[in-house]
Amino acid sequence: MSPPNSVDSNRPASNRERGPALLSVVVPCFNEETVVRETHRRLVAALEAVPALDFEIVYVDDGSQDATLNLLRGLQRADARVRVLALSRNFGHQPAVTAGLQHVAGQVVVLIDADLQDPPEVIAEMLDRWRAGADVAYGLRTERAGETRFKRWTAGAFYRLLDRLANVSIPLDTGDFRLMDRTVADAFLAMPERDRFVRGMVAWTGFRQEPVPYRREARLAGESGWPLRKMLRFAADGIVSFSLAPLRLATWLGILAAGLALSGIVYALVLRLFTAAWVSGWTSMLIAILFLGGVQLVLLGVLGEYVGRIYGEVKRRPLYLVKERLGFASASRRTAREEPADE
Ligand code: UDP
Ligand code: MG
Repeated sequence: MSPPNSVDSNRPASNRERGPALLSVVVPCFNEETVVRETHRRLVAALEAVPALDFEIVYVDDGSQDATLNLLRGLQRADARVRVLALSRNFGHQPAVTAGLQHVAGQVVVLIDADLQDPPEVIAEMLDRWRAGADVAYGLRTERAGETRFKRWTAGAFYRLLDRLANVSIPLDTGDFRLMDRTVADAFLAMPERDRFVRGMVAWTGFRQEPVPYRREARLAGESGWPLRKMLRFAADGIVSFSLAPLRLATWLGILAAGLALSGIVYALVLRLFTAAWVSGWTSMLIAILFLGGVQLVLLGVLGEYVGRIYGEVKRRPLYLVKERLGFASASRRTAREEPADE
């Protein structure tokens, strides 16, 4: 599935020195009325500061319940480089990013949050990496300002756990703020899965991926759209889509339990054959029953995680539905495979 405007990744890096024909920025927005205008202003300023750069900005409204969509419509009216894609409801950050990627035309694509936690000025640096031959330049958070200790600690623990469990190495302390070559974006879009753990999937594609260190700022205003429940689900997505380790846990716990059971059996037999004290021992029996029951329930839950995801995949529902498109040329680029069922 190579769209007509795809770019051959094999061409020598030197061809990139002139800069991309078009740079597309994808900005997912969910209830961001307090920040979108400032975000747009800074984004445009940062992009205009790069000499001879043609760009488009695709705002994806992920079913905001506030004035975000209206503000985006206003930005679009005022600036022909702005496109707005409004989803029919809140589908979540990762589907929103995918929706945006499916609608961009650029030779390079940037993903950035709407809340200015990722400074737009870093894009110029990412572009330099791309010019020098990198296919992915991902933002590496050296510091995280304005985030609670709890969030920093859980995020740190999660990324380290994921790194130990996952089959591909997913860079630590990295969000979705990144620049990708068209080749990588197309590879990403060709992946049919519903549970889209963007940073893991991009890491999976390979190619030349380089970090660009930056300081993650505090949210400009508004609230994080990630309550604990969403964050836990996101963490589960990351681990379950990139690792079978939780399933293997069953085997290891089974072996451990069998080992314990064996020593228990030997102990019981010794008591029964060589002593008179063999009627007692219901405590150990109760412990064994409760222990095995607990282990089985936990592992059923783990199996359920995977089975539930398989169920989600086989339903083959569209990842998102679009209710409004503004500013796209009529032949806006979309891939046939994931064509959302909105028309
Ligand atoms: N977002 C979205 N859909 C959601 C939640 C968040 O499109 O359901 C967007 C949000 O507008 C922002 C980005 O995803 O641009 C990151 O979200 P947020 O800042 O809430 O996450 P955090 O930075 O706290 O991890
Ligand atoms: Mg944020």
